[in-house]
Amino acid sequence: MKKIAGLLALLLVLTGCAPAEKHQKDFFAMDTFFELTAYGEHAPEALEAAEALSMKLDAELSAVNPESTLYALNEAGGGPVDSDCAELLETALPLCESTGGAFDITLLRLSQAWGFSGGEERVPEVSEIAELLRYAGWEKVVYEDHTVTIPEGAGLDFGAIAKGYAGQKISELLASYGVESAMLSLGGNVQVLGKKPDGSLWNVGIADPSDEARIAGSVAAENAAVVTSGAYKRYFEQNGVRYHHILDPETGAPAESGLLSVTIIAENGALADALSTALFVMGEEKALDYWREHGGFETVLITEDGRVLATDGAAFTPAEDSDYSYSVVG
Ligand code: AMP
Ligand code: MG
Repeated sequence: MKKIAGLLALLLVLTGCAPAEKHQKDFFAMDTFFELTAYGEHAPEALEAAEALSMKLDAELSAVNPESTLYALNEAGGGPVDSDCAELLETALPLCESTGGAFDITLLRLSQAWGFSGGEERVPEVSEIAELLRYAGWEKVVYEDHTVTIPEGAGLDFGAIAKGYAGQKISELLASYGVESAMLSLGGNVQVLGKKPDGSLWNVGIADPSDEARIAGSVAAENAAVVTSGAYKRYFEQNGVRYHHILDPETGAPAESGLLSVTIIAENGALADALSTALFVMGEEKALDYWREHGGFETVLITEDGRVLATDGAAFTPAEDSDYSYSVVG
């Protein structure tokens, strides 16, 4: 009798608690590697659909692909918009405003002049930057009745928000297939769905901006995006000076804000992505002011002078071998 009870218990353990099967799909989209991991019986078909969605978003939202919806819109100086372009405009424009223009989706021609959005990487002339800056400015974008008008001489760029938006949309798609647990890494921007299959929180590493092979620490998260903007992610060097891809809309040049990276943790991937860029431009003081004033997200800032600052809800744990000093901000 005892033996049978033991066998039954073992069977229960084996069937009831069998770990959900892990499925992965890796591919290239949006100029980076997408690594999607999902668990459970619905994962294979959900991941197929996720790849198709990623390709669709890439074909719509790329500012540099001449076949894309956004490219055509920029060429035409605007026009009717629907689906993802419309949703992105509706998400992005209020963030341009609330960040005081630190996040600005009209910097495409500047980004191109620096060679960060196609073309050759170079330091543009001061006069060229000044001219392109005059054309740019999110306040000049008119968006009414699903029609956008792009300021003359400027172009729209969703580069600072599109990957976060994609993470959000893929996560929603996986959930609609019945997937309860997934981890999406879109070129280092992470979106997690649910918890890990064993019921614990996901641990998302935050790269050490001085040495990407290491992590500065990690955050524990569920149903959230963990998105990082950093000077280290894309840059070139000329005459010993490093120029990176996050532009200060006030100067038209790479932002020099005293930060090496900004990580945002938020439920909404598009918001997290836009804010990671904006807070990077703002610098430590304004970034933390923005967090205190607006809330709805947590953040981890890594400064040029070797500090890691994490807001009190960020669930951040510094790496044991980290060279940074660490403090929590309330
Ligand atoms: P991220 O890696 O999310 O910070 O986005 C950086 C990309 O967004 C750049 O490669 C540009 O395409 C674009 N970008 C650069 N500076 C800004 C800015 N201040 N506001 C919005 N987009 C920007
Ligand atoms: Mg961003």
